[in-house]
Amino acid sequence: MPRLIQNYISGRETAGSDGQRTPVFNPATGDVLAEVAPTSAAGVRAAVDAARGAAPQWAKTPPLSRARILNRFLRLLEERIDDLAQVITAEHGKVLSDAKGEIQRGMEVVEFATAAPQLLKGEVTENIGRQIDSHSLRQPLGVVAGITPFNFPAMVPMWMFPVALACGNCFILKPSERDPSAALLLASWLTEAGLPDGVFNVVHGGKETVDAILHEPGIDAISFVGSTPVARYVYETAARNGKRCQALGGAKNHMLVMPDADLDRAVDALIGAAYGSAGERCMAVSVAMPVGQETADRLVEKLEPRVRALKIGPGTDPESEMGPLVTRQHLEKVRSYIDAGEAEGARLLVDGRGLKLQGYEKGYFIGGTLFDHVTPEMTIYREEIFGPVLAVARADTYARAVGLINGHEFGNGASIFTSSGEIARAFAHDIQTGMVGINVPIPVPMAFHSFGGWKSSLFGDHHMHGPEGVRFYTKLKTVTSRWPSDVAAGAEFIMPTMK
Ligand code: NAD
Repeated sequence: MPRLIQNYISGRETAGSDGQRTPVFNPATGDVLAEVAPTSAAGVRAAVDAARGAAPQWAKTPPLSRARILNRFLRLLEERIDDLAQVITAEHGKVLSDAKGEIQRGMEVVEFATAAPQLLKGEVTENIGRQIDSHSLRQPLGVVAGITPFNFPAMVPMWMFPVALACGNCFILKPSERDPSAALLLASWLTEAGLPDGVFNVVHGGKETVDAILHEPGIDAISFVGSTPVARYVYETAARNGKRCQALGGAKNHMLVMPDADLDRAVDALIGAAYGSAGERCMAVSVAMPVGQETADRLVEKLEPRVRALKIGPGTDPESEMGPLVTRQHLEKVRSYIDAGEAEGARLLVDGRGLKLQGYEKGYFIGGTLFDHVTPEMTIYREEIFGPVLAVARADTYARAVGLINGHEFGNGASIFTSSGEIARAFAHDIQTGMVGINVPIPVPMAFHSFGGWKSSLFGDHHMHGPEGVRFYTKLKTVTSRWPSDVAAGAEFIMPTMK
């Protein structure tokens, strides 16, 4: 019987529930690596009790001491990056170099969070009135939870918990049930770095466990990253239950290619951004939007052979540029989108559906796929496919292209390739997405800026990590104080005003 992946509560692995087990696969081979069981409401309560028990002391721990623990955790990550990358590749399927890349981006958030004493500095105004001073400070929320998707099993949790912990909160992580093992390594390394027991906990499961988190009164705030329908549900339910919530959803990121763009660079950018990690990235470019007939023809002519030449194989093979999809079910879903694109009249230039890899017949592989003449009413234009499928949607003019992007349901990221500063500036100003790239295909903000989209790509008020993360994980308190030396003037019955 496969190994059952455990929860992590109070600094040690703990049995979760004995409910219906679901398998965790190696997507390259189809082998079952382990199993995971849903954590029931009682199991979530055990994690909350551990976190609540640890919260008062952790909140009182000086920010510099918290930062030192995160610094030791950072060193462990540096030393063990290969071990973590292997676990990610085994359960997710992405190539090892890409797994290391996501850990690196997560480590940058840890680095940011080690500046906790600086990040938590408040503001002071002397003499807001005579002999009266005012200062504002940020205090932790208490116990916060993170619910994360399969596509970045290390980076997305690290968008959240380093900042939450640095701000003095205790954290409960509910990772994706499809690749849950990375979370346990992170948890045990935090303990090894000196994090007190109960400050960081992991519970496994799917919807049932998420519902238990959403209805658990001992959890003050929820950070969520995943698909839009679930993000909307999590946000609405958390808000109804009085919890602060940031819920990041799906995406359909466009790359606009102007006639004056360097097309070779644009093609390089598109190949990496559309097919890297088999398109399973929320910042993947899934729509290329060339402006003008001639630009479109030249772009497609250069793209097609590059898509055919993609090296697809297991993530452990250093030659592979793209690994398998995460599950058989997801593979079927991506295939059905390609069927729909064909049926709706898009021109299928490269079809990845027939790919067979010798020795990996049971893996969830699909080849790179390229559509041309995709139009806005088609399913493959409107919906997020989350696979290695690039749609070329031609636009007559810059204004028409911007109108289409701004009219789309999703607003995560968008980029433009051009050599005109004037057009680039107008694009950055006009476009209705949370993240914008100019001659940069995947404009993921660094750790010290904040990550998040607009429209159906984010529900809530705060983006993740960077200054927005600090605001999300703290509540503001403003203190007004007077230490009078003169004789009391007696009661005042009017609104205090400046004298
Ligand atoms: P998902 O929505 O299926 O799952 C996300 C999390 O929600 C998981 O922990 C899962 O267990 C839980 N969940 C799943 N179904 C649920 C339900 N019905 N009720 C309650 N909880 C549920 O997403 P996924 O397939 O793991 O990840 C891919 C999606 O995440 C894509 O849509 C991608 O765009 C999105 N994503 C967005 C960002 C971003 O920053 N906006 C980043 C990464 C991924």
